[in-house]
Amino acid sequence: MNNFGLDIWSNKNFVIEGDEVLVNFGSKPSLLKITQEIRQKDVRGPIILRFPHLIKKQITTLYECFNHAIAENSYKGSFKAVFPLKVNQFPHVVAAVTDKGTPFNYGLEAGSKAELILAMSKIVDGANITVNGFKDKEMITLAFIAAQSGHNITITIEGLGELKTIIAVATASNLKVPNIGIRVRLHSTGSGTWAKSAGMDAKFGLTATEILEALRLLKSANLLEKLSMIHFHIGSQMDDIAPIKRAIREAGNIYAELKMLGADALSNINIGGGLAVSYEQHSDAKLHNYSLEEFSSSVVFLLGEIMDAKGVTHPDIFTESGRFIVASHAVLVTPVLELFTQDYHEQLLNLKESNPPLITELKELYNQLNSKNCIEYLHDALDHIESLLTLFDLGYIDLQDRSNAEILVHNIIKKSLSLTSNINTSELKQLQVNLQERYLINASIFQSLPDYWGLKQHFPVMPLHHLSKKAIRGASIWDITCDSDGEIGFNPNKPLYLHDINLEEEEYFLGFFNVGAYQEALGMGHNLFTHPNEYTIVISDDAYEITNEEESKSTFNILESIGYNSNELLNKLKSDLNKSYFSTPKEKSDTLSKLDTFINQNGYLRTTS
Ligand SMILES: *Cc1c(COP(=O)(O)O)cnc(C)c1O
Repeated sequence: MNNFGLDIWSNKNFVIEGDEVLVNFGSKPSLLKITQEIRQKDVRGPIILRFPHLIKKQITTLYECFNHAIAENSYKGSFKAVFPLKVNQFPHVVAAVTDKGTPFNYGLEAGSKAELILAMSKIVDGANITVNGFKDKEMITLAFIAAQSGHNITITIEGLGELKTIIAVATASNLKVPNIGIRVRLHSTGSGTWAKSAGMDAKFGLTATEILEALRLLKSANLLEKLSMIHFHIGSQMDDIAPIKRAIREAGNIYAELKMLGADALSNINIGGGLAVSYEQHSDAKLHNYSLEEFSSSVVFLLGEIMDAKGVTHPDIFTESGRFIVASHAVLVTPVLELFTQDYHEQLLNLKESNPPLITELKELYNQLNSKNCIEYLHDALDHIESLLTLFDLGYIDLQDRSNAEILVHNIIKKSLSLTSNINTSELKQLQVNLQERYLINASIFQSLPDYWGLKQHFPVMPLHHLSKKAIRGASIWDITCDSDGEIGFNPNKPLYLHDINLEEEEYFLGFFNVGAYQEALGMGHNLFTHPNEYTIVISDDAYEITNEEESKSTFNILESIGYNSNELLNKLKSDLNKSYFSTPKEKSDTLSKLDTFINQNGYLRTTS
């Protein structure tokens, strides 16, 4: 039974029971039931379902693992963490992160002015704010304002220029000075797709020489008691633990050296983010090579060892993992609008009273196909279609015969693929590529899965129902943008099989999982498709509740947001219509009111035809 790799990517967050996929929590609601309940309210486009219990699970796991490692290793420092806002700044995500994080004093990380403003307004009292990224005088002043407002804020300098600006602001004002962190430039580099954040040629961080200069500048400005943190971040989605261990050794030694040079207030080492998430759905795929248990225990052990060797007090350990915290919490549900090869459906077979002998034979092959003979019969069928196409070219069979031949062979291949136990021969793989079904989804890959478009990052995908039936159609997925890149192609080495559905009789929904990190923040308005409708699903032991509905932007609003005056556009459309001839006044007023309706709906499709 194909479980769509659920055991690889879902971390037990979802389970298949009977025909459907369920949220594996509390009352275990079915994703299909939730989707149908939402669609009853006339919602037709893609939807994002948020599950705050999964954010809670990740935050809790992170703290428990580190606290366990701290106890095991008799480590003297404590564990602290912040959520990097750039991973997902949407209001209901930030609300869930701060709410579920409150018991742990979980903080926020900001990388821009807008994120800093957000952090200052949404941080739970007493929790930490860290600030990374390039900063100008205004942003640095904003950090002073945060400190003045009572926030526990650490501003990490990416270069000496920023430190000089901090000193200038501190000298010129009486505002409270924020804590200062130094991002260190490591010679050890990260690994994985996103590893451009470390190494001697990295975009960020101070070299050894610059760190010593920073220490001198801080001393002479009387601000050394503000230097509280050493920071590094070696990249996202780290697939290998070795580079992080090298980075810990390097940064740990820098920390200890600085302490020995008199940086007495230094008390935190911030190891950045980068914890990986499982996106794969095939068992032979390469996964990251560590667990959170191994990761936390390595970090704690190494830091303890380095500090003990140099006689330095154990620092508190900070992390900034974001992907790990929110990736799992969001599921993108997309209706399938069309299957493109339905024209080969068996129902369309239109055999004559008397058929050419090869077609009669194809029909018999099809009827008698079983798991023992299927490969042999498949070869016969492929042979016959060649002959039949030649007969057509020579004028011996007509178009109806040809159509019947194509439908029969198509169905023989389909049935053989479902009957055979070993699909891994190169011949069968190729047949699947040729026979793949194109599933048109009501969504935009650019808007909702931008990392697939930009980095070919795979996201687990599966149907929400029909799961007790074997899915046998090799599938490629097409979105509704008119861009040829809006496609997830069929890959015979990592095949996706979906069900053969007659969409005139029933609906078919696909879920894309682990889409909660970066996808919404990076989503692009290509073709002016916007962020889908979203819902927060709160699950208890005996029920679930659909809350926080946020509707996708209307056509009116999306046009406004890129600078058009929508009223002006609408008036133009109406005046053009007003000039035209209508047979009845009612037809005219109906047509005008349709315009009003359309411009106030979002741009996703509502019907198939
Ligand atoms: C992006 C970023 C993070 C978060 O990385 P994840 O891979 O999402 O854990 C943490 N710290 C800094 C400085 C970053 O730039």
